[in-house]
Amino acid sequence: MKIPYVNIANQNLAIKQKLVNAAERVIEHGQLINGPEVSILETKLAKYLGVDNVVSVSNGTAALYLSLRGLGIGIGDEVITVANSYLATVSSIVLTGATPVLVDVDSSMNMDPNLLEKVITNKTKAILPVHLTGKPAMIEEICEIAQKYNLHVIEDAAQAIGAQYKGRKIGSFGKTACFSLHPLKNLSALGDGGFVATNDKELANWISKARNHGHSSRDECEFWSFNMRLDTIQASFLLEKLPLLEKQIECRRRNAIFFREHILNKHICLPKEEDYERCVNHLFVIRLKERDKMKKYLESNGIETKIHYPIPIHKLKASNMLNFKLPRTEEYSDKILSLPVYPELTSNHLEKIVELINAFE
Ligand SMILES: *Cc1c(COP(=O)(O)O)cnc(C)c1O
Repeated sequence: MKIPYVNIANQNLAIKQKLVNAAERVIEHGQLINGPEVSILETKLAKYLGVDNVVSVSNGTAALYLSLRGLGIGIGDEVITVANSYLATVSSIVLTGATPVLVDVDSSMNMDPNLLEKVITNKTKAILPVHLTGKPAMIEEICEIAQKYNLHVIEDAAQAIGAQYKGRKIGSFGKTACFSLHPLKNLSALGDGGFVATNDKELANWISKARNHGHSSRDECEFWSFNMRLDTIQASFLLEKLPLLEKQIECRRRNAIFFREHILNKHICLPKEEDYERCVNHLFVIRLKERDKMKKYLESNGIETKIHYPIPIHKLKASNMLNFKLPRTEEYSDKILSLPVYPELTSNHLEKIVELINAFE
């Protein structure tokens, strides 16, 4: 039995005819840019998340970048975030001209709110927590500190669509929440995509101009900006996939529960879910000292795993101007291992993974 880490082709082939029909409709109406599917998708996403505005953009990084820019963040400003994430969390800050200030994570592998007050300066403009793996960060504590110091909160929710914190969906705790629709994410396009969720109408308006060259109308431009739009054809695919999302999240959660109940190897630290949260298990990350050995062992038994992420962001070559000591982030980067957790895993797959992990000495 071979178990790949993910199988994107299978996910899309399961609804191939729906996707083909959607593409045909777009080809026939011909509005390939800003077509009707784009705004229909935005409305549906806003309803799903329970937020007032969703602005679709070309990818999750654009969602982060435009949120920061929309809040006036740039040269001379500081934004607090974590190094235990995909690199776009930090690159989006650097690309605005602002300086990323990195804090360590706690044992949940998300931002440790207790470290925030120590690094806030008079240059700090925003806190950017990541809901890594689809587990909510300590968002209430983070928002309280932000409020106390008059800072914005921008959520990196790229891995967390559908996640809940105290009964409320991630998407409206901060000023904006930024989502990715990359093929690997829980809700995915057949290519790149992303969106910003916000209850701030004015900010949403600014972002919808900023994603489209700064156009305020066909012929007028208010400010210089990029082309960061979501394609109509991608929106049409996403409209077919959004109705399936909740069921897929439930499958991911079922897989995670199975792992939590059945992985008994005492060398392994399993990711927790607290009773006040709903994790969406974009990733299922275990920690163990013999990570590299485990990875090879599983590989030799047909099970593919990944590491998210092997090099913490502040240790990347591109980060040579960033000098931070983040002991937990660094320690975890040598111990973490992501198991397959995608919705299509069968009970045979799950049992095989558990059996092998439990037999590992
Ligand atoms: C995927 C991801 C991004 C970037 O999204 P793209 O759509 O690839 O630009 C940012 N942050 C996190 C945590 C991600 O997982």
